[in-house]
Amino acid sequence: MQYKTELFIGGEWVAPRQRGHIEVTNPATEMPIARVAAATAEDLDLAVKAARSALPDWKAFTGAQRAVYLRRMARAVEARKDRLVHLQTLNNGKTLAESEYDIDEVSNCLDYYADLAEKLDHKQGSPVELPVSEYVSQTHFEAVGVVGLIVPWNYPLLTSTWKLAPALAAGCTAILKPSEITPLIELEYGDIAREAELPEGVLNILPGTGADLGGPMTHHPDIDKLSFTGSTATGIKVMQAAAQSIKGVSLELGGKSPILVFDDADITDAVDWICSGIFLNTGQMCSATSRLLVQEGIYPQLLERLKEAVGQIKVGDPFAPDVTMGPLTCRPQYEKVLAAIENGRHCGARLLTGGSAGNAEMKGFFVEPTVFTDVPLDSDLWQEEIFGPVLAVRSFSTEAEAVELANDSPYGLVATIVTNDETRIERLTSALEAGHIFINGPQALFVQTSWGGVKKSGIGRELGPWGLEDFLEIKHTTRFLK
Ligand code: NAD
Repeated sequence: MQYKTELFIGGEWVAPRQRGHIEVTNPATEMPIARVAAATAEDLDLAVKAARSALPDWKAFTGAQRAVYLRRMARAVEARKDRLVHLQTLNNGKTLAESEYDIDEVSNCLDYYADLAEKLDHKQGSPVELPVSEYVSQTHFEAVGVVGLIVPWNYPLLTSTWKLAPALAAGCTAILKPSEITPLIELEYGDIAREAELPEGVLNILPGTGADLGGPMTHHPDIDKLSFTGSTATGIKVMQAAAQSIKGVSLELGGKSPILVFDDADITDAVDWICSGIFLNTGQMCSATSRLLVQEGIYPQLLERLKEAVGQIKVGDPFAPDVTMGPLTCRPQYEKVLAAIENGRHCGARLLTGGSAGNAEMKGFFVEPTVFTDVPLDSDLWQEEIFGPVLAVRSFSTEAEAVELANDSPYGLVATIVTNDETRIERLTSALEAGHIFINGPQALFVQTSWGGVKKSGIGRELGPWGLEDFLEIKHTTRFLK
């Protein structure tokens, strides 16, 4: 398979000015896959110039005109689905089933924002109700401008699309910076853009490191807005840098989300949702429900069933159809997760299952699905995001205690509630500090619903109409009627 390895600027594949490269690795084998160009500040200047010169025409199109391109991109994604699934599993390590889900959601998201771009035309110039009759005020929506989209490696193509589709729908032009760990996947968007005949410069893709490219993006005077997904530590740097030029920022950051299971819950269902909430994508989910709170009455039975279910998870080659959990995506993450497990062994918690590097027969960044119970509240295991397949469990006695434990975190991305008591669901929905609450089910994400967190989990909301608003400025006209 041939990979795209250059920079995509102004509709062309070009070599980086400084000729630097990033080695891209297969996390299941630790073998190199490709050498990808590493962009630096000089390449960024060229990409920003291309995006700036494409902006006036792209912004002047109607939403309906932009929708045509978004739909063409969706069809181009569908047409190369097998290739994208393969590439994502190869570079990221997620199973084929997980990659397939992501790629389907990518085309779905492009189509959804094509629809919203069309609807935007009908909202332009809508009147505002005023308390006086001698004035008329109208609302206009305009693209924010040139936007910098910075993403991590855990859902590469999907996270990029959650930003790119609304940005293009709004009339912005973009510089997309994939993670240096998984750049092969987003580079495919260059060919997709060409096939969709997207005007040159509307989308520019620069792989590169955080230090040599991400940092310069946050300081660049001609980038109007940054949409960032990644760790809270980097999010703080992005926000600080953006403050210098009062750039808009939206931040989708880390989490240490709770799942609360009450005595009246169906244990079989609860165990299913607990497992998918922490072991999908090898636990590399910002929304992983990595803190499990179980009411005392069912604690022993639930732990027994959970241990059995975790024992069924098959770790291994993500291309194998019977494998349900692939490797972690990169060595630093692998080492971080193993260190967190090692700390967990010494913090006073009890290891219920797992706890070792995975699959002994293979090289690769494999880790066993791991569960610690009776985890001390002040331990890193309970407090810190691990971003791997490691679950921390505690019991609680009352609803009030459960809420206090759940909210005792600097993060607030999601929470899951498992109970059949409707009034309790109502109380918890308002009491839990999170951007999205899943009730009696898995983490079902729909492009129509919002995504984002409170507290240190971020600022702003992606997806739904809120995702589009994030890339729009509001302009009002107010006219005096003589
Ligand atoms: P990271 O913060 O290390 O990197 C994210 C991106 O930022 C990468 O492209 C990186 O190159 C770039 N970057 C690094 N330093 C930069 C700087 N100084 N300025 C600008 N850009 C810089 O995160 P990661 O390790 O790639 O991803 C894991 C983290 O992402 C986890 O904390 C996870 O919770 C979070 N995440 C959040 C969401 C969400 O929607 N809330 C989704 C996925 C991942």
